[in-house]
Amino acid sequence: MHNHLSRTLERLSRVRRERIMPRLHTRLGGVEVEAWTVPDDGEPVSARHALGLGADTGRTTPDYRPFPLGAAWGEAWATTWFRIRGTVDPGRAGPVDLVLDLGWFDHSVGGHCEGLVFTPDGTIVKGLHPRQSDIRLRGDGAVPGLLDADGAFLLHVEAAANPLLLGLPPFVVTEHGEKGAEEPFEQFRLRRAEIAAFSPGIHALACDLDVLGGLAAELSADEPRHWRLLRAIEEALDVYDEADAEASARRARAVLAPLLATPAYASAHRITAVGHAHMDTAWLWPLRETVRKLARTVSNALALLDADPDLVYTMSAAQHFSWLEEHYPQLFARVRHYVEQGRFVPVGGMWVEADGVIPTGESMVRQLTYGKRYFLSRFGREPREVWLPDSFGYSGALPQLARRAGSRWFLTQKISWNDSTVFPHHSFWWEGIDGTRIFTHFPPAETYAAEVTARELHHAVATFKDKAIASHSLLPYGYGDGGGGPTREMAGRLRRFADLEGAPRVLSRAPAEFFQEAEAELRDAGPLQPVYRGELYLELHRGTLTSQAAMKRHNRRCESLLRAAEQLSAAASALRGAPYPRADLDEIWRTVLLHQFHDILPGTSISWVHREARDTYRAVEERLHDLIKQAGAALGGELAGPAEPAAEPGAAVAEAGDGGTVLEDGLLRVVIGDDGHVTSLFDVRNGREVVPPGRRLNELQLFRDEPVRWDAWDVDRHVLRHPQVLDQVTSRRVIRSGPDAGVEVVRRAGTSTITLTMWLRAGTGRFETECAVDWQERERLLKVAVPVRVMARTARFETQYGYVERPLLTNTVDEEAMFEAAMHRYVQVADGDFGVAIVNDSMYGADARADGDSTVVRLSLLRGARFPDPQADVGTHAFRWAVLPGADVPAAVEAAHAFNAPGIAGLSAPLVRLELLTGHALVDWVKQADDGSGDLVVRVYETQGARASARLHCREELGTGAVVWETDLLEREIGGDGDLPVALAGGRRPASEARLDLGPFQVATLRIATHASLKEDVQ
Ligand SMILES: [Zn+2]
Repeated sequence: MHNHLSRTLERLSRVRRERIMPRLHTRLGGVEVEAWTVPDDGEPVSARHALGLGADTGRTTPDYRPFPLGAAWGEAWATTWFRIRGTVDPGRAGPVDLVLDLGWFDHSVGGHCEGLVFTPDGTIVKGLHPRQSDIRLRGDGAVPGLLDADGAFLLHVEAAANPLLLGLPPFVVTEHGEKGAEEPFEQFRLRRAEIAAFSPGIHALACDLDVLGGLAAELSADEPRHWRLLRAIEEALDVYDEADAEASARRARAVLAPLLATPAYASAHRITAVGHAHMDTAWLWPLRETVRKLARTVSNALALLDADPDLVYTMSAAQHFSWLEEHYPQLFARVRHYVEQGRFVPVGGMWVEADGVIPTGESMVRQLTYGKRYFLSRFGREPREVWLPDSFGYSGALPQLARRAGSRWFLTQKISWNDSTVFPHHSFWWEGIDGTRIFTHFPPAETYAAEVTARELHHAVATFKDKAIASHSLLPYGYGDGGGGPTREMAGRLRRFADLEGAPRVLSRAPAEFFQEAEAELRDAGPLQPVYRGELYLELHRGTLTSQAAMKRHNRRCESLLRAAEQLSAAASALRGAPYPRADLDEIWRTVLLHQFHDILPGTSISWVHREARDTYRAVEERLHDLIKQAGAALGGELAGPAEPAAEPGAAVAEAGDGGTVLEDGLLRVVIGDDGHVTSLFDVRNGREVVPPGRRLNELQLFRDEPVRWDAWDVDRHVLRHPQVLDQVTSRRVIRSGPDAGVEVVRRAGTSTITLTMWLRAGTGRFETECAVDWQERERLLKVAVPVRVMARTARFETQYGYVERPLLTNTVDEEAMFEAAMHRYVQVADGDFGVAIVNDSMYGADARADGDSTVVRLSLLRGARFPDPQADVGTHAFRWAVLPGADVPAAVEAAHAFNAPGIAGLSAPLVRLELLTGHALVDWVKQADDGSGDLVVRVYETQGARASARLHCREELGTGAVVWETDLLEREIGGDGDLPVALAGGRRPASEARLDLGPFQVATLRIATHASLKEDVQ
């Protein structure tokens, strides 16, 4: 047969673009537009103010002026309010829309200008973006009362002139990440504002053709269905005539109808499609803009839920719900209505979609508990899935923390971004470093912002790795990153894909229903159930562990201060009856948790976001210092000064023959050459030299850091190939401070200055470096090398509640791909029973590789990415690290705690302590219970990946009647009946008899009721 159909899909594409879509709206008439650009500092005003319903204090009264079509509006980040009047002919039948083009690009939904539409009384109608630019004036979906008796209307549009920062080509350096940049800004233009008739028939035809055309393109030419589809499309295009669009569209649809009616194959893959808008809490816009983005996205989602009874929408991040509740109560009320119906589904249960590797264990606990408590308090529901589609890797502690917070499932898709290996599963048991398993799903469409196209559905089925044992997957659809969410078109395609030959079956339902079925299906696979053990390392975005060093330092600092503040406040309350500053601590925690969002803490936002974050962090640290002082004052005599006693007689300093310096204190002997490098670090007790022969410890290495893509995100492997060693010494001197002796070395890199002060801390067994940097470099990576004479296959990098064993070898692709990875406070390597630990006070990125019979650990200090913040990291920084020869993991953990609490280490008024019987465990956190009962909550964990047992000792003042029991992370009692191990067997018991048995890296939350006995003592 002749091939008449070879160009059908090309024909379809052109007819759709030029002859069908232009008929979706038919112009009926113009409108009258006025505009007012918000003056003063350009920051938004309330809708009340702009609508003349009330005035914001100190803001200029709105002054609307006629605004011609085609005129430019908006300086970068400014807001223009449009006031639009018009009249719909009351005699006209069918749906009528107001159609607006604020100057859209054809891409980047949520990444440039956006609008929010209000009625004159302040009711929110919907959000506007390039794929959602019409407002229903009359017909299905119109806001009641929008037209008066004569058909006249008045609408306001709050238009945000958010600049397009990630355009085409991407990653172009821009100054517009701050307001008031000198770089010219191309304004948006109001290109279209008119009243138009909407054609449901044309819309339906477009959806039919999108679905069948997409399907034909995906199906193999070997399949009869492919040819049937092409033939029907060809016929439909023959029938459709734009000169008689409405009627011919009906006839064309009749041609397509039988093709849409043939059901899916019996064994077709099943996809649960959930409406979603991935919403970055801040990124290429400041925090305040996310609040407005939420209103736009949520109002659109609500309009779709109103229009289509089958749709389900999901939203994560308690912080976002909380902003909506505070700033847009009318939308929040409508959200609550749909939450009750199960159609607007809160997911994730965390405060924000946090970074998955940098926050400390307690921070992850609080992400879950602050998140879940919020959802329980507002909706009486607790999300059971952890929802982190976009974070840059996931620690091996997460399965345990999620399960101990009452969650059952975990979702991400980010690991599909790996640059070196392909992850082997999409539905599997993820097993944490402690052995806890959680059902985990990676949506195989490999996006969190699908558009429900045949291509995505086909990709999902083709890619899904677990087809032999599983038949379900999840598809989060809707524009994302900057919000946007699902559209009418996506909903239209979704309906047509429900049960269609050649495509997977597509269901619209809540994620929990999917997870329940998918988990059951996996269990049915018996011994074939896939298990993946350990951290989910993302082979990409390795620079996020280092970018914007201030974020990292402040986060670590806040976590350490919170640890002290909560512990001391609990002690002051328990021992002295001082009020526990719960409201302050809650507010501080929520702020710290907010800044752990996966573009703030990782350092990948615009300058504006990081500038504000630095200010916020400083204020938080001040408040924490105040709380610590307050608790200290209440505790009075309990507060001794810093704990470390001065060693006698102190470190000795001698000259080495070649102009170098020898520091020695009986525990360590350090030789620092005249070039400022450490050539020897000798551990006297163990008789071991730490520095490999011919190597130099504390060598600063500079790398040309020019990523292929994703500047602030990526350190590429090519960057690490050519270190430039900073050899030149600007100045060098021997220094002393009390019993400690050291050498200060100043070096230069370009126009930057780096001062290393290397201390032998007498009597501590610790060789410590303080590093001050005035950083002016762009696109340079700075590392410090710590070569140690230890031969091993792996190094232990601290993570949340434990460590990850990272490969030192590069035998396999996945080992090589881990060329830069996350550490918390220590890296430890050991051969035999000799270990060396390197502890730090603020760094998170490091690499460690075998080098002959030795190991080189390099800590990453600074980068200087130019996108999205061209001035990232410019300025002064301070870092500290220390090398501890002879340290095993328990010693590394104890040192890491002390090293991160300088000055407040001695401020301990411990209410509880552990008497170790076997192994090693730690009281990581002490606080009061979240429910205000006055109970104490103690978090304990096993530190070295072994077993430990310990007796818990409470202070006498807590009273002889103190009772202890084990809880989940939300402080709810758990028994031994679940599948998670308990540390305290046998339920409630007198605190004096508590014995803990902990498995490897097990985290236990203990709750101690003491207040009854204390109330008498306090008087
Ligand atoms: Zn994101």
